Amino acid sequence: MNKGAEVGRGKTKVLFQDPKRSDALVVVSQDSITAGDGAKRDVIAGKGRLAALTTSRIFRLLNEAGLPTHYISGGEDADDNEMLVRRCEMIPIEVVVRAVAAGSYVKRNPGVKSGTVFAPRLVEFFFKDDARHDPQYTAEQIVEEKIATAAEVAVMADLARLNFDILSHAWRRQNVLLVDLKVEFGRAATPNGGTEILLADVIDNDSWRVWPAGDQALMLDKQIYRNLGTPSASDLDNVKAKYEEVAERVGQFAKRSGGFVGIIMGSASDNDHADRIAKALATYGVTARRHIASAHKTPLYALQKVQLLDSALGQVVYITIAGRSNALSAFVDAATANPVIASPVIGSTWGGMEIVSSLALPTGVASMVVLEPENAALAAAKILAVDDTVIYGRVAVAQYRNRNKLIDADTSLSSTPSTNGKATE
Ligand code: 5GP
Repeated sequence: MNKGAEVGRGKTKVLFQDPKRSDALVVVSQDSITAGDGAKRDVIAGKGRLAALTTSRIFRLLNEAGLPTHYISGGEDADDNEMLVRRCEMIPIEVVVRAVAAGSYVKRNPGVKSGTVFAPRLVEFFFKDDARHDPQYTAEQIVEEKIATAAEVAVMADLARLNFDILSHAWRRQNVLLVDLKVEFGRAATPNGGTEILLADVIDNDSWRVWPAGDQALMLDKQIYRNLGTPSASDLDNVKAKYEEVAERVGQFAKRSGGFVGIIMGSASDNDHADRIAKALATYGVTARRHIASAHKTPLYALQKVQLLDSALGQVVYITIAGRSNALSAFVDAATANPVIASPVIGSTWGGMEIVSSLALPTGVASMVVLEPENAALAAAKILAVDDTVIYGRVAVAQYRNRNKLIDADTSLSSTPSTNGKATE
């Protein structure tokens, strides 16, 4: 990448202005590895390439999941360890999320054993100051010292948790426990003249603790280097081998499972309902294959379609839409061992009864009955998310945004004066 003037330097990276865009920077990862706030430092040839590869693969996954990050492009082998990122004003706070007690937490809290599980996960803040060894700060201190507003601290904590959730899903799929993770945030300008909080800096094998099969002795991360006294050349080779393994494993994070939804509808008139399901599925990155087949009129054809979808390479989850009768849902459910979600059209009739609620449906219709098409799509996406971190991330981000919408609505309700002039409670 073409680079302009150097604008900053960290312990393991150098930042340059992008010559074409004032709102972007080029981040170049270095071969250095440090511990103890820079007190211990070594150089491992090729570590910069592995760091750029790991960070770019992680940020690509997070971007696909819809998390707001600073990452734009680059970082792969042909990019000279260089990534293009959105320029932002860094907030000098390290946000650490912990699923399991380890490291500085057990030092600070001697009564807590290493390996203790936190539920909910713990979020801690540390002020970035090597000379003072990054002191722990409370949210109140951050606000008091005007490092960030209370709203910004809340967003940082939420996004850090969400990020942890997504990355621990990706690691879990490889039977690796994500123990803890450090992230940093920046403020970026928005087109309307405001600012937004972005997940920034880097996330690489220096940023977390990862224990395969939940076993600390099998650790793959920088802790191996921290635990060494003065490392020999072969110690550093061993550290590098772990960084290589992590970069490769992280390369699987955004790999799609190929899972999809097979929509079987009983009549062409159900297509509007199918449209709504397919549209909602697309927001989670899930594709839908539609077929029209009737249990009453074309039973063999319906069976053939199920057999066809069952033998596809990717995992199928069925959503059946039955208009006048739910025989189709029961039929598909009996024909396959794959999950079937019945999403009957509301207002349609079954056995002379109008369907207004899933409670009105007879048992044995399908393994799951979900009326609203958007909810049926969500249920299917959640099933496919088990094997696909992009889908899992999109579902997690969508649920986070929905929660926020509700909280915003409540906040604006509380601050709206009622008609008699008194503020509502
Ligand atoms: P601890 O507070 O236990 O030392 O660290 C918690 C987590 O944050 C660990 O996963 C650790 O790797 C990460 N972490 C803490 N400080 C730093 C730092 O200065 N740089 C990086 N890259 N990660 C850190």
